[in-house]
Amino acid sequence: MIIVMSSRATQEDVRHVVATVEKLGLKAHPSQGVERTIIGVIGDERLLKKEQFSLLPMVDDVIPILKPYKLASREFRRENTVVNVAGVSIGGGKLAVIAGPCSVESEEQIVATARAVRDAGADLLRGGAYKPRTSPYAFQGLGEDGLKLLALARRETGLGIVTEIMESSEVDLVAKYADLLQVGARNMHNTKLLRALAGVGKPILLKRNFAATLNEFLMSAEYLLSGGNPDVVLCERGIRTFVEYTRNTLDLNVVPAVKLLSHLPIIVDPSHGTGRHDLVIPLSRAAVAAGADGLMIEVHPHPAEAFSDGEQSLTPDAFRTLMAEVRAVERALQAR
Ligand code: PEP
Ligand code: MN
Repeated sequence: MIIVMSSRATQEDVRHVVATVEKLGLKAHPSQGVERTIIGVIGDERLLKKEQFSLLPMVDDVIPILKPYKLASREFRRENTVVNVAGVSIGGGKLAVIAGPCSVESEEQIVATARAVRDAGADLLRGGAYKPRTSPYAFQGLGEDGLKLLALARRETGLGIVTEIMESSEVDLVAKYADLLQVGARNMHNTKLLRALAGVGKPILLKRNFAATLNEFLMSAEYLLSGGNPDVVLCERGIRTFVEYTRNTLDLNVVPAVKLLSHLPIIVDPSHGTGRHDLVIPLSRAAVAAGADGLMIEVHPHPAEAFSDGEQSLTPDAFRTLMAEVRAVERALQAR
């Protein structure tokens, strides 16, 4: 449930309510809004009784949250959450673009890609050092050497870095290098990893599993939020359907649906969503038109030679075109 404090409530009043909640063995998540503080109460619902809180001083209202996700819900927080990644705001109204190769392959490749995407207007650099590949014989990523190359590319370009974390045992290592830690589609259901990431002190990019319902997607976000990490960015990257023309079916329905149900920002990855370089630009335009807070785009200087996902990677030239087109859609939306 949510405890809505009076706009006249002092810090002391909030502390008193929080202490009362904790005395009952429940968790309190205060969130200070522009006008008033609201306190999310999380725990075994059987222990919750509205009157235990509604009669406390400076409590205006006590509202049950009926959705299974609480802290991720729009009821808990009416304002949009803005996640700051190395000085870049995601969810603040300006489109945030993450671009770079599927995998980090070499110093030359990552630095050249970083420069190209920065010059085209990207905000953050992506690149996988730990790769969840379908085949055990495929390139698995450079591991820590890849993370070091990403750090080098950050020094060269000033772009913050986004990279995948696959193992709970590697959280500290990856967090040492990454500005935004990516939980891949295959790990969205890995609750042990999500719990480990709740305490990492860095923002998380949570990709939707290709078979996850919107409810399951938001419940995974809830693991991060309830564990104490408020900085969660959602990412739609396509789901499995009967369609075999494309690698996945980009479910743009979830973009406005997330906006209704949650306060968290959501970005779209049309590279994995389509699996085809020639569909990435039109689907990027569509994602922005649907209200996405950002895009994640795979870019490679020589897609034909990429170690992974070359068929869905844009050349730097095509990425420049993409940026011009999505900025035009963004301007059209702002002019409404
Ligand atoms: C990726 O971003 O390169 C990736 C592996 O994505 P996903 O987890 O969405 O398949
Ligand atoms: Mn990829």
